[in-house]
Amino acid sequence: MTDLLAGIEDRLRGLFRTKGRPIIGTCSATAFMEMAIRSGVRHRVLSLVSGAFGKRFAAIAQACGRDVVTLEVAPGQTIEPHMLRDALTRSEVDAVTLVHSETSTGALAPLEQLAEVVHEYDDVMLLVDAVTSLAGSPVETDEWKLDFVLTGAQKALALPPGLALAAHSERMLERATTLPERGGYLDLVAYADAAENHQPTNTPAISFLYALDVQLRRIEAEGGVEARWQRHREMLQATEKWVDDRGSALGLSYFPAKDRRSWTVSCIRVPGGRNGREIQHTLSDRGWMIASGYGEFKKSTIRIGHMGDHTVDELLDLLVQLEEIVA
Ligand SMILES: *Cc1c(COP(=O)(O)O)cnc(C)c1O
Repeated sequence: MTDLLAGIEDRLRGLFRTKGRPIIGTCSATAFMEMAIRSGVRHRVLSLVSGAFGKRFAAIAQACGRDVVTLEVAPGQTIEPHMLRDALTRSEVDAVTLVHSETSTGALAPLEQLAEVVHEYDDVMLLVDAVTSLAGSPVETDEWKLDFVLTGAQKALALPPGLALAAHSERMLERATTLPERGGYLDLVAYADAAENHQPTNTPAISFLYALDVQLRRIEAEGGVEARWQRHREMLQATEKWVDDRGSALGLSYFPAKDRRSWTVSCIRVPGGRNGREIQHTLSDRGWMIASGYGEFKKSTIRIGHMGDHTVDELLDLLVQLEEIVA
């Protein structure tokens, strides 16, 4: 166990771009959203909401008994630095929650710039859901001074579901030690102590750890996390080009604005009168899987998850099918 976890830790540092010790839980990513709140928020948190997962972070904070102030923009849009500065000036909070890549809308928040704004304020923890950005687009935990960065196994890491991973700053751990009600099972301090000795906190689902070890070695073989980012950037660019060159004539358009699009998931509006669910089902009959829109956008958008181990070539094959179906 010690050997396995030590090997994984080294490679996870590269993935999270941190000198710290990443932690691993054999639970889903949402569990670490709860850890972020319980071990990171003293009294009041500012939750940035631009879709379903931002809402979830806020709801968890509320369920953990914290005061929650939300800063919300319409789905598909992103919260920009000046909006965050304005919100932080108006309400005194001790933490901010933020979803980097909002999987429900395909929008990518300008994380580096938002982090700079948070750091203009004293002692405000920045808690980041990087579930569909980490391993698929740049997330610089140390350089951007992110206090808690969490992800899961089944998105850009292309692993079976069942793992939550996170990196944390020193000051996050210091904050945690001052909070009396961190809970028992999802206590960051306990996780950090165990990681110190390359031990799990409780009995982990060991098979998932073997899977993680294999996938981290494969990422290394691909050329490291930067090569993986690049492949994802190319998949986004290929999809954007297809929408520009072919899709727009058929009435397809991107939901988020240019430069605010996730590198891992493209959320695209379908033409008026068409149903994203039906397009999804027809593609599925042909052996291709995309997602319909999320929640209220189930019918009006589709989402292409060009993340994980997919390639540009596979994506182009999918887009040919999609074009036929929409036309
Ligand atoms: C999938 C997802 C989650 C939740 O992950 P689970 O592993 O299902 O708990 C949280 N945030 C984002 C942005 C996601 O895409």
